[in-house]
Amino acid sequence: MNHRNIINRVQENVERVRRRIAEAALRGGRDGRNIRMVAVTKYLLPDDPRIEALFKAGCDELGESRPQHLISKVEAFSDQPIQWHMIGHLQRNKVRKVLPLVSTIQSVDSLRLARAIDRIAREESLRPHVLLEVNISGDSAKHGFAPSEIRPALDEMADLSTVRVRGLMAMAGLQADQETTREQFTRLRDLFDSLREDLPENVEMEELSMGMSRDFEIAVELGATIVRIGTVLFEGTE
Ligand SMILES: *Cc1c(COP(=O)(O)O)cnc(C)c1O
Repeated sequence: MNHRNIINRVQENVERVRRRIAEAALRGGRDGRNIRMVAVTKYLLPDDPRIEALFKAGCDELGESRPQHLISKVEAFSDQPIQWHMIGHLQRNKVRKVLPLVSTIQSVDSLRLARAIDRIAREESLRPHVLLEVNISGDSAKHGFAPSEIRPALDEMADLSTVRVRGLMAMAGLQADQETTREQFTRLRDLFDSLREDLPENVEMEELSMGMSRDFEIAVELGATIVRIGTVLFEGTE
């Protein structure tokens, strides 16, 4: 595919996803303008023209799941006004490198990681935004807190004064069909709502990051404020 066709195709894909988000929001009785799409670039090398196509399509929030890939893309696109999201498992020994580069770490999956982020943020005078990752599927391969661990974890995090907890993030199970996905997202939304009703100290429950290419419409209907989309943005560009 030539360069121009790739750019056009990605642009069309982005517009189609935005429309589908707006329609799903309507079905859920929500305002689609309050829903942000993080475009996931983890499949692409930094020099891939499809990343440039995302910029042309107005995507300014991008997600990466591996620290090393994040670092090389941040470097490659330092001239672009991008907010980067870390969406994959983060080892504590990578926190110092990643922290200054991202707008949000969506994948805080343990108290030890939260404490490491707080310690390093204090040293670096940063106030990182984070989401707590919830394992809503129970898949043992998935990272994240069990739903029942979230409230106690937030209470323990009350004295991590640099960290701004902005909400929750989750993925549906790998094997989940539509109905199961809907159940899992509904449980996460209910947890989110119950935390908002009785907000733990030092916590803002504003962001609910759920929904990927195969299930973002369900997520939007059920209350997602952030969807993280990769595959469908690059359809037809191989
Ligand atoms: C890869 C990834 C996505 C995007 O998945 P697609 O199916 O390609 O849309 C979203 N969230 C996380 C945490 C991911 O690792």
